[in-house]
Amino acid sequence: MQLIFDGHNDVLLRLWEHAREGADPVAEFLGGTNLGHIDVPRARKGGLAGGFCAMFIPPEEDYPARVVDENGHYNIPMVGPREHRAALRIALEMTDIADRLEQAGGIAICRTTDDIRAAMTQGRFAAVLHIEGCEPIAEDLRNLEALYARGLRSLGPVWSRHNRFGHGVPFAYPSSPDTGPGLTAAGVALVKECDRLGLMIDLAHITERGFWDVARESTQPLVATHSNAHALTPISRNLTDRQLDAIRERKGIAGLNYATTMLRADGLENPDTPLADMVRHIDHLVERMGIDCVALGSDFDGATIPAAIGDAAGNQAIVGALRAAGYGEDDLAKLCRENWLRLLKTVWREA
Ligand code: ZN
Repeated sequence: MQLIFDGHNDVLLRLWEHAREGADPVAEFLGGTNLGHIDVPRARKGGLAGGFCAMFIPPEEDYPARVVDENGHYNIPMVGPREHRAALRIALEMTDIADRLEQAGGIAICRTTDDIRAAMTQGRFAAVLHIEGCEPIAEDLRNLEALYARGLRSLGPVWSRHNRFGHGVPFAYPSSPDTGPGLTAAGVALVKECDRLGLMIDLAHITERGFWDVARESTQPLVATHSNAHALTPISRNLTDRQLDAIRERKGIAGLNYATTMLRADGLENPDTPLADMVRHIDHLVERMGIDCVALGSDFDGATIPAAIGDAAGNQAIVGALRAAGYGEDDLAKLCRENWLRLLKTVWREA
């Protein structure tokens, strides 16, 4: 088994939503259920040793319905940003859940790569706290250091909606990721502050122009924690070959998103999606960027994923498929965890 450190999951969102309905997040995560994708028993079974745990602030109202035309092409209308104070309250509630999971021994909130390796050795889920869409951060950045002190080590300026820091890509198929403007002036200041603090910047949901803005304003390796190859699945959320070339030049990472909409050539949300589609994307990313710049970014608890994986317990199915496709154990170790650890060592300035 190859232990996996994964680029993106939404388990904190699931636990937060269930806690609002009266569930106990500690019992749900440690004891295990059949809800969603990740808990301790299923993570252990599938070798999911840790990953970036997103604090994603859901829209205030329901997600808008997908608008589909006669060719099966679709677009999900964008929603507005969350108001800062409400978003911060939710992010702090999610941080509290992470703290409770840590106190109960279910996760370790990791601030260094040594923390990640130690947690993986001890069999505790190695969690890196990440904000996906920066509405919880004040426009003048006054609370960023406080969040860093709580363990925040990574952020994406935007989710797939616009906010004060920048512009996100809508979920549209087929569509280029070049859908609008990029960073705002506040977004440029945010990116520079991330460089100063050693906070990783995630480009997964930002427009293509925002991607180039970050490439210009930041000195970090370029990272998209959960995005695939646009050449294979032309959805707005995937990365063009030009973006992949820039990630390679900056020694960054693209993490394979298991969302079927981002894996299938037809862009459909359909769990009947073969592992071969995942291997095809990995092959393309590796051909374009080399084995050191590719990793996994499942989107567990945040997307419809192939039934062949199912949930965290089935995570080794992709490792097996890659092995069968000819990847050796050294390459698999890089794809599964070592590339993320190498990158974080750089971004967190441990080296
Ligand atoms: Zn996402």
